[in-house]
Amino acid sequence: MTLIEDAKKGITPPEVEIVARKEGVDPEKLVRLLALGRVVIPRNVRRKIDPIGVGESLTTKVNLNLGSSRGVADPEAEVEKAVVAMEAGADTVMDLSTGGDLDLIRRRVLAAVKIPVGTVPIYQAEVAGELTSQGLFDALERQAKDGVDFVTVHVGVNLNSFERLKRSHRIMGVVSRGGSLTLKYMSETGEENPYYAEYDHLLDIAREHDLTLSLGDGLRPGCIDDASDRAKYMEFIMLGELVDRARKAGVQAMVEGPGHVPADEIETSVRAMKYVTDGAPLYLLGPIVTDVAPGYDHITAAIGGTIAGMNGADFLCATTPSEHLDLPTKEDIFEGTIVTRIAAHAADLAKAGVKDRARLWDRKMAVARRDLDWPTQFDLSINPSLARQIRHRRGVDVDTCTMCNELCAIRLAREAMERERDKEKRTAVKKRG
Ligand code: SF4
Repeated sequence: MTLIEDAKKGITPPEVEIVARKEGVDPEKLVRLLALGRVVIPRNVRRKIDPIGVGESLTTKVNLNLGSSRGVADPEAEVEKAVVAMEAGADTVMDLSTGGDLDLIRRRVLAAVKIPVGTVPIYQAEVAGELTSQGLFDALERQAKDGVDFVTVHVGVNLNSFERLKRSHRIMGVVSRGGSLTLKYMSETGEENPYYAEYDHLLDIAREHDLTLSLGDGLRPGCIDDASDRAKYMEFIMLGELVDRARKAGVQAMVEGPGHVPADEIETSVRAMKYVTDGAPLYLLGPIVTDVAPGYDHITAAIGGTIAGMNGADFLCATTPSEHLDLPTKEDIFEGTIVTRIAAHAADLAKAGVKDRARLWDRKMAVARRDLDWPTQFDLSINPSLARQIRHRRGVDVDTCTMCNELCAIRLAREAMERERDKEKRTAVKKRG
C-alpha cells in the first residue's frame, strides 16, 4: 500500500511520525492532510531516506537541481554537488542530467545522499534516442526501480495546451526543457503526449513504487512579459484534473509552477494554482521577478520565492547565480541553496499555519544578539561559517563589533536600562526607609 492509501484508511505510517516530529505538528492532522493529497512525503519504497513533508501546514521546502549536460558530464562533480546541497540544507535534490552515463550519475547520487531525489525521465528517453511512448515509459520505470523518490512529468503539455500556445503572443515561447521535448514529440508524430494519453499506465507505475509525481509546468513563462497567459492557465486547469486522478489512484502528486512572474502577479498565480488543484502541494521554479539580473538570479528568485511562499507555495526550487548563463558549479550550488533557504524561511515567518513555529528560530537569534552572545549567534546562523568568518576577519577582539564599537547601540541601551532599574530600586528603598 502507498502512503496515501495508508492515510486514507487512517493508518499512521512511520514516515508521518518522523515528519510530524520534525515539523512539530500533530501526526493525526498530518495523516488527514496526506489522505486529502494536500501534503506529500516523497519516498520510493525501495529507498531508506530521511523523509520530509511538503504541503499545507508544513515549512517551505527547498530543492536543488544538479546534473550533467552534453557539454559538461562529470559524474564525480554531480555527486559532489548533491552532497554540497544536502550539507547546505537542501531538503531534496533533482538529478537533471542530460550528458554522459545517466544511469551511473543517478545511481551514484541516490547512494550519496539521504534526502529525497527527483528526476525528469523524459531527459533519459531523449538522450537514449528513444523519444517514443515506449522510451518514455521505459525511462520512468528504470528510474523508479533505481529508487528515485519523485519525478517530474510534463502531463499538462498536450495537444490541447499546444493549441493555446500556438495562439499566444509569447516572446520566449517555451523554456521548460521537458515541455519543449514534449512539444517536439507531438509536432513530429502528430500524436498526444504519451504521459498524458496513457496517464493511467503512468499512475500504475507510480503506485507500484510509491513514486510521488511532480506534475511539471512545461508551459511556464520564461520572461516577465509572458507571465500570465491562457496557455499557462490552461495547463494549470489540466494539472488540477490530473491531481484528482492521481489521488484517486493512491498516488501522491504535487504541481509545479512558474517561472518568471512580476512581484504583483505572484499572489494571484499561487492562489489560482492552489484553487484549481484543490490545495495540491505547490512546487515553484523561482518565481524570478525580473529578467535583467543574470548572475544574481538566485536573488531575483529568492524575492519571488518569499512572496510565493507567504501566499501558500510549499516547495521552492533553488536558483543559482549561474541561471541563464552556465552549468552551476558546486560553489553556485551552495550559494543557491543558502539563498533559497533564506527565502523559504522568510516566507514561513509570514505563512499561515507555520509562522508561530518558524518565529522561534528568529526569537532565539534576537536573544543571542541582545546578549552579544556571538557563539550562539553563529550556531543559529543559516551559514555559520560565513558569519564567523566576517566577524573575525579584522582580527579585532571586542565584545561588540567593529560596526559601532563602543557606540554599540545594544550595549548603550542595555546600560541605560540597567541604570534606570537601579535608580528605581534606590527610590523604592528610600521610600521604604
Ligand atoms: S556594535 Fe553595532 S552592529 Fe555591532 S552588535 Fe553593537 S549595535 Fe550591533
